[in-house]
Amino acid sequence: PETITVAELANRMAARQGDVIKKLMTLGVMATGPQSIDADTAELVVQEFGHRIKRVSESDVELGIEGVEDRPEDLTVRAPVVTVMGHVDHGKTSLLDALRAADVAGGEAGGITQHIGAYQITAPSGKKITFIDTPGHEAFTSMRARGASVTDVVVLVVAADDGVMPQTIEAIKHAKAADAPIIVAINKMDKPGANPDRVRQELLSHEIVVEAMGGDTQDVEVSAQKRTGLDKLEEAILLQAEILDLKANPNRVAEGSVIESRLDRGRGPVASVLVQKGTLRRGDIVVAGAEWGRVRAVLDDRGRQLKEAGPSVPVEVLGITGVPAAGEPFVVVETDTRAREISEFRQRKIKEKQAALQVAARGTLDQMLA
Ligand code: GDP
Ligand code: MG
Repeated sequence: PETITVAELANRMAARQGDVIKKLMTLGVMATGPQSIDADTAELVVQEFGHRIKRVSESDVELGIEGVEDRPEDLTVRAPVVTVMGHVDHGKTSLLDALRAADVAGGEAGGITQHIGAYQITAPSGKKITFIDTPGHEAFTSMRARGASVTDVVVLVVAADDGVMPQTIEAIKHAKAADAPIIVAINKMDKPGANPDRVRQELLSHEIVVEAMGGDTQDVEVSAQKRTGLDKLEEAILLQAEILDLKANPNRVAEGSVIESRLDRGRGPVASVLVQKGTLRRGDIVVAGAEWGRVRAVLDDRGRQLKEAGPSVPVEVLGITGVPAAGEPFVVVETDTRAREISEFRQRKIKEKQAALQVAARGTLDQMLA
């Protein structure tokens, strides 16, 4: 049955429980915070509060978690989230390292940079950009397969001395499938054999028409090694972000995606997450995939404790009792009872799926032996 508690509904709308209870009374429904109401009633309340409703996923509907869409007036600008893709050895890792080193806030930031799967930099203009630093098409596709769409912009790295190669073409396909605009970074411009025009020409046959050739795909010549063109690349990303009009509501409970997670010897399960909506705070109760926990610490990519993290901010989270998979959604809920309920439900679903797979495998084995 599709139900949601009054408390959870209020939480989702960032509204006061009392106001929701009063609204319910005007609809002829008497319910207190911990009591459940059906989805239709919840939908009415949500509309009365001026929100639009969106059901997040099938399992969430069954659980009665209603994803409440934000009102346009509650949205504020957020940083673009960028994934770097391209052929092996064309310089993805080098470029990510160079961009991070060029962070204008890096000098005063302190702390030793750590790998948490993503980092955020401040461009010379003062605007922020978030980079997912697990380049690789596999990470991108496996995250997308789990329904996570975290990438706003794809930076396609093509070595100027090598040109378009098989994995360049693959990356273009992934970006197009994800509907993410591409910015071409023509790398290794310092090399004697660099031929950027050949790159632009070759991209034509893959329906990437750069601006210089009359198209609308931005291209920037860079050298990750000599650290040239990086500010131009950042400007191109920020321009693309403006065109995309990226916004989120920071004043609500946090939602986002797991980028990676691991079991740390000293600290236990550590999840790197990207906040996509709302603000995540220490003490929040979060459900991440089939795992849950109370957030014990929120750390940035320099290992510093943060009080809170808003939209597009990547953080490391301590306190989740297991290791959720990359691409799993995370969401903050009102109570630990609720968190446990959702996590148990999802674990049950996983077991059912595994059992079904086993039966299917047995079936084929029987067929083979027959
Ligand atoms: P990835 O496989 O795409 O991550 O590529 P890497 O960043 O590991 O770079 C592959 C090789 O190219 C390394 O030896 C880098 O030092 C070199 N490289 C990367 N960027 C540049 C560049 O701008 N100029 C030159 N000359 N070499 C580069
Ligand atoms: Mg690499």
